Amino acid sequence: MDTFTLIPGALPANSGPLARFLPPLEEGVVSAWLGAHLKPGAWLLDPFGAAPRLSLEAARSGYRVLTTANNPITRFLLEMGAASLPAGEFKAALASLAASRKGEERLENHLQDLYLTPCAACQRETPAQAFLWRKGEDAPYARIYQCVRCGDSGERPATDDDRQRAAEMVRSAGLARARVLERVAPLGDPDREYAEEAIRHYPPRALYALATLINRLDSLQLTPQRRRALTALVLSACDAGNVLWPYPAERPRPKQLSTPPQYLENNLWLALEEAIGLWANEAHQPLPCAHWPKAQEIPESGGLLLYEGRIRHLAEAGGKVPLQAVVGAIPRPNQAFWTLSALWAGWLWGREAAEPFKVVLRRRRYDWGWQAAALHAALQHVFDLLPLGAPFFGLLAEAEAGFLTATLMAASTAGFDLRGMALRTVHDPLQLLWARGERLQVEREAVPLEDIRAALHEHLRERGEPASYFALYAAGLGKQAQGRGWRRLAEDFDQGIRETQSLIQQAIQEDEQLHRLDASERSLEIGLWDLQPGQVRAEPLADRVERAVVTFLQRNPGCSLLEVERHLYPQFAPLMAPPRSLVQAVLDSYALQQAGRWQLRPEDRAAARRVELRHMAALVRRIGERLDYAVEQPNETTCLWLEAGQTARVFYVLASALVGPLLAQNRYPPEICLLALPGGRAGLLAYKQSRDPNLRHRLLHWRILKFRLLRALAEIPVLNRQTFEEQIAGDPVQQSPGQMMMF
Ligand SMILES: [Zn+2]
Repeated sequence: MDTFTLIPGALPANSGPLARFLPPLEEGVVSAWLGAHLKPGAWLLDPFGAAPRLSLEAARSGYRVLTTANNPITRFLLEMGAASLPAGEFKAALASLAASRKGEERLENHLQDLYLTPCAACQRETPAQAFLWRKGEDAPYARIYQCVRCGDSGERPATDDDRQRAAEMVRSAGLARARVLERVAPLGDPDREYAEEAIRHYPPRALYALATLINRLDSLQLTPQRRRALTALVLSACDAGNVLWPYPAERPRPKQLSTPPQYLENNLWLALEEAIGLWANEAHQPLPCAHWPKAQEIPESGGLLLYEGRIRHLAEAGGKVPLQAVVGAIPRPNQAFWTLSALWAGWLWGREAAEPFKVVLRRRRYDWGWQAAALHAALQHVFDLLPLGAPFFGLLAEAEAGFLTATLMAASTAGFDLRGMALRTVHDPLQLLWARGERLQVEREAVPLEDIRAALHEHLRERGEPASYFALYAAGLGKQAQGRGWRRLAEDFDQGIRETQSLIQQAIQEDEQLHRLDASERSLEIGLWDLQPGQVRAEPLADRVERAVVTFLQRNPGCSLLEVERHLYPQFAPLMAPPRSLVQAVLDSYALQQAGRWQLRPEDRAAARRVELRHMAALVRRIGERLDYAVEQPNETTCLWLEAGQTARVFYVLASALVGPLLAQNRYPPEICLLALPGGRAGLLAYKQSRDPNLRHRLLHWRILKFRLLRALAEIPVLNRQTFEEQIAGDPVQQSPGQMMMF
């Protein structure tokens, strides 16, 4: 497991369509892994198709990717991604739609008029960007607009006009509701009541607008390419139209179809316009894309072969394509997205398109036991399609204990051996590597609690600082997965997950050598845990990261964040890959950025800092003498102020924020200790304190002094002890807002 390290990527500049339902992944990760492990042209399998961009990236980096996509919506995302249509196609498609007639009107005006609201400033009507609703009420309470006439903008209370228009919409949406229901589940369809239930998450005005758009999509004369472009925009409007837009929003990622207490009703014409930016793809050439079984249409230079069905059926058809590896984002159950996908497929392409996927309408709850069983079943078929030893590189976003447990258990019981697991923070996708093993009939032997415990202690010793519950959990689970205890669990995943979770929980909670740092009533999963004090362990991770980043910057001026991370990660165990916020805090402290390239600050070059350290130590000496202390300097960077043979003040002068060794060696009471640092380092030290309660506690009574203040003190003509005390008390360690991210 040790050679596997986290592969850094970059957040996509454009999140793309339906991003709130898709795994949040970084770009460049899967292509980097592939480049290091497989020859271009090789056939890969993405058995989940859950992250269209991942399959597309693999194909674009020169591989032939067979992707199974049972969900017609993700399949459409894959096809559109491969087609790489420029913005012009979408604009032209939307222009055709806008100009089509609805009675005497342009369709654009007809739809915009649904959202008209009186401007609070000029009283004239303007289309609202959105109306704000409270759950269960029959009229909006506010609206958001930017007046097209006078420019007045913002959120304003709803008016009588707004309430009246909403009431009219209820009356005119009846027919629209019947029509969109008919396209998914006609009268007599056993799933009709479930479709009806799902459609309740659309306000009347949205149903009216969507039914109008869908109707027009059917009748408008367009080239096939334009039609696809327009379908894409209407799909975005289908999502913009539901009530799953909580207000105020903090990056919502809905998993359940439920109405938030307050939500946005978006203007769907504007949603169409805004969607162009999400779908347009100017950066890539179109990618070869064909449907199973036309494998011969995919050239060796890479492309996408789509399988429109379940992996089970592919395995039965199998053997046509020499698969060498598996890549994919582990799908996470999402009742909201799956249910909506069934609706949207019916709306956009008719009943037959929705039919194979419609079964999702019935299911409301997906627990981890269900997840493990479903994943296990899929991976058993994947197993049959692969040669022995074939690698499986998986990304698991939105990690939590149950999801990870279900995943590792499903893979293990399907015959995949875990070879590596890399984790940065719980907010980043985990990277997992398996190899297709053999299905051995072995007796169940659980990993003993002591072994799990030893793995947890080892993790914390090596980290040198507290760990999140999830990181510890992953360390314990990795130990579990290495054993063969899960091999026979396939019959009852619910119980297996429960047992595993409680075993690791027990290993963490009932261990006298471990303690929780931020003990509070908050849930176990967000706590920080550490070894009891007094144990021999590695230098804190944060200090090692600081040193490694600075060394790399010295040797590689003009490097990028990605290069820093690529160099950094192999130096750390895979489950303790340094958080990006920490690397960023070190870069901000020591370096300047220009167009994504980092250079050490001139004052942070080694030679300049050495000179400055000596100068600062001299200033401390001189100030002490001016304040009538006896001054001693036991070494270059430590200075003592003495009075009547007693130590009154101890100064440590540092160029870095590496305070660990100094705190370990200091023999003086913290109340008289001062730490003098360059200003840029004080922010980094504050950041380190914010993420490590132990460090915060140990520095509690220390005074932190910036070099700038030392220089200023040396300049004061009449300095006395009182002025000195006042000055150092008034120099709080500042922390810039950008450094407040905890992990
Ligand atoms: Zn106005």
